[in-house]
Amino acid sequence: MTIFKSIAIASALVAGTAATAQEKFITIGTGGQTGVYFVVGQSICRLVNRDSATTGLKCTAPSTGGSIANINAIKAGDMDMGVAQSDWQFHAYNGSSQFEGDKFDKERAVFSVHSEPFTVIARADAGIESFDDLKGKRVNVGNPGSGQLATMEVVLAAKGWTMDDFALASELKPAEQAAALGDNKVDAIVYTVGHPNGSIQEAVSTVDAKLVPVQGEAIDKLVAENPFYAYASIPGGMYKGTDSDVKTFGVKATFVTSSDVDDDVVYEVVKAVFDNFDRFKKLHPAFENLKEEEMIKDGLSAPLHDGAVKYYKERGWME
Ligand code: GLU
Repeated sequence: MTIFKSIAIASALVAGTAATAQEKFITIGTGGQTGVYFVVGQSICRLVNRDSATTGLKCTAPSTGGSIANINAIKAGDMDMGVAQSDWQFHAYNGSSQFEGDKFDKERAVFSVHSEPFTVIARADAGIESFDDLKGKRVNVGNPGSGQLATMEVVLAAKGWTMDDFALASELKPAEQAAALGDNKVDAIVYTVGHPNGSIQEAVSTVDAKLVPVQGEAIDKLVAENPFYAYASIPGGMYKGTDSDVKTFGVKATFVTSSDVDDDVVYEVVKAVFDNFDRFKKLHPAFENLKEEEMIKDGLSAPLHDGAVKYYKERGWME
């Protein structure tokens, strides 16, 4: 046998082993760089990519417009998985609200993550003490494709308001909104997001600003009538300018996919997160108090993906 032939055989053997871990690229939809979804996606990918040599999975988590954009990208097959608010997970699967006539039957839940209070932060000099004071003000309502814009529309409808009730309803992205507040281009920002987050931290370090409560009859009705809404409270002392707890309502951040995504892929992603759960929880303060048993049921309305069920059963978390 010539040396060339033996090299050829050796590389065929190497190629043979590599075939068991064939490279597969997966993409996770997140949100703006200064939010928490971006950290969720980056953290999941970091754990998945530690095992690339054995699983073949290569994971990326680019910044996106947020919940609605992620759900639509998964539905179109442009992304494999993504983070989405529990209210929009529900509406996409059921074809309700923004997803009326646009049902996503193949939507599958994977797990839920942190809580996301519907958060309003106002300049201290704007005379805004509660949500109702936003009337006639300049408000950043959220970028198109985001969960916060969609949920803001639900809140406005519940209150019998429209965007015309604001002097300005801007649609800046999370990465731009803090600067707009600091530069006095808007009086307040509406952001449905986990805490603490970079965007609000940036806002309070640039300008005197405070979180304001979101309460009242319309909110009580939303919470009473919808399983995916709950009362929420943002702890005082988390951000400069807000010393006491702020009452509002909120949703959960959830991780979703499609039944078109292979069971093996979802299984490996879920395994990467829960086999390394202590490490995962350290990647953002909003993950600190996550509990496995809550994550596999809270805020989930679409059926669980089979690949996730397989892992949860193996761990004895499900029958
Ligand atoms: N809840 C926001 C959305 O659905 C994103 C928040 C974040 O990026 O952490 O668009």
